[in-house]
Amino acid sequence: MKKESVFMIAAICLMACSQATQVKQVTASGEVLDFNVDGLEVTWIQDNAGLRLMPVRLFPEADSALIDSLGVRDGVPSSVSTFLVRIDGKKLLFDTGLGGQSGNLLRRLDSIGVPPSQINYLFITHFHGDHIGGMLNGDTVVFPNAQVYASQPEYDAWVVNAEPGQNLQQINTMKAYESNLHLFSFGDTLPMGVIAIDAKGHTPGHTAFQCGRLLVLGDLMHGAALQMVNPQICASFDADKAATVESRQRLLKYAIDNNLIYVGMHLPPLKAEMFE
Ligand SMILES: [Zn+2]
Repeated sequence: MKKESVFMIAAICLMACSQATQVKQVTASGEVLDFNVDGLEVTWIQDNAGLRLMPVRLFPEADSALIDSLGVRDGVPSSVSTFLVRIDGKKLLFDTGLGGQSGNLLRRLDSIGVPPSQINYLFITHFHGDHIGGMLNGDTVVFPNAQVYASQPEYDAWVVNAEPGQNLQQINTMKAYESNLHLFSFGDTLPMGVIAIDAKGHTPGHTAFQCGRLLVLGDLMHGAALQMVNPQICASFDADKAATVESRQRLLKYAIDNNLIYVGMHLPPLKAEMFE
């Protein structure tokens, strides 16, 4: 199978249930893309610059034959992605990317006329640096008007149970947002009807969010081309592999059973052709 086919596999799986989905606009940059899920306005915003390939050595369970058959020997197509959803005049942001010099979220929000002060709700899938890195600029809060939602088990793992001197980014970030921080349990319904779904494994409190027919999978997949063929394959940085596999299988089945559109923070970049 040629490498181009891998992009198509990911695209087809990503948008398997996309009949009711329409692309409204695609920017010239190709790094921001709007689509509509049953009236829900969704904007995919790529945080990283350029092409991102995940090295196959990060997927130790993937055998050579599968890697070669998919044409991903040089790396599995990936991204660092965030998602903006607009409902009832409110702006919801799912994760914040890398921040610092590497993150492009703010630049790309600016390109669509959304200053960070307009973000009303911030939903955090987990506390790795490529998801919370954009919350602070130095010590300054980037989203001053956002109510922030994170899972209690994630907060406990990184902040409450931190070893002395460890997890400083997580602790500093959550402290900076303390007055607007809301900790939820799996299964809770959050503002704007967002449902927090147990997706633990990658981290102890890793959460997927459902918003209407949109399902935000967070880091359930880092090498979608491999993991859609074989959901048992984990990335080496999935903390609890058995729990990750259980979450991945359960949520993919949930998406298919309920005709949901699923997106993820490390799925390959979205392209307009995927919606045709
Ligand atoms: Zn990540």
